[in-house]
Amino acid sequence: MEYVAAVDVGGTTMKGGLVAREGTIISFDRRPTPRAEGPDRVIAAISAFVADLCRPRSGTRPVAVGLAVPGLVTDTHAVFSAAFGWRDVPLSAFTDVALPVALGHDVRAAAEAELVHGAGGRDVLFLPIGTGIAGACVLSGSLYGGAGGWAGQIGHIPVRPDGRACGCGQRGCLAAYASAKAIADRCGETSAEAVVRRVAQGDDRAVEVWDEAVEALALALATYTMVLDPAAVVIGGGLSLAGESLLVPLRARLAARLAFRPAPEVRASALGVRAGVMGAGLLGWRALAQSRGDVDEPLA
Ligand SMILES: [Zn+2]
Repeated sequence: MEYVAAVDVGGTTMKGGLVAREGTIISFDRRPTPRAEGPDRVIAAISAFVADLCRPRSGTRPVAVGLAVPGLVTDTHAVFSAAFGWRDVPLSAFTDVALPVALGHDVRAAAEAELVHGAGGRDVLFLPIGTGIAGACVLSGSLYGGAGGWAGQIGHIPVRPDGRACGCGQRGCLAAYASAKAIADRCGETSAEAVVRRVAQGDDRAVEVWDEAVEALALALATYTMVLDPAAVVIGGGLSLAGESLLVPLRARLAARLAFRPAPEVRASALGVRAGVMGAGLLGWRALAQSRGDVDEPLA
């Protein structure tokens, strides 16, 4: 059986695995992203992870590699990432394995996995919420990248004029209120799960922070809905694990913000935190198809 090596690089954790053609994850592993040690250490850690996944096991090894990273990404370069502080990193810097390799954007790759292996839909906003908040806009069945690849930066929609400082350099961004990291930081916790537990116990500070996060999300989603009229918003990433604690109030707040039209469906990702690795797997299969000269199948 053929399989590819897939690595999804997040701000906190790198998730990697071996992925079969139909999307089955044969093995899954996670390692911390050494973000605090600088861009060179992150690149070295990615390279080591790919090398480990490509080691032969039981006489077989992957046939290709898919690598999904955040920020502005082209087929050949990781152009920019505020989280990692890298600029114009060529694909060859991430791995020197002698296999077909494809580089892609983490959120768009995860969204593609949702479309191919998950719930799908023709007009969908896929919104992973983790260390940051990004978005992949699926319009009429195709992923939309925008003029320069910057489309879908939902996390940096201003939700409060002159609000909290965001890592991107702006103020009042959605991510400064509703990313899992912001929610945890504002409550002095290391994870948003801990805040969700405190909310359930009626802790005042946790309730206040959670309430502001949900309201900020509702505001940003109302803006997106007015512009692009999605049928559904699919929440992924670590915060999607909060489940109904997040979805129930978010649906109500979003509906309340939309006076004259129905709200889009808001649901959690069917693939959960593994969507990123499955998306990186799709990149790997595409790299193999291109190396063999097969026609690349268009998305959806
Ligand atoms: Zn921002």
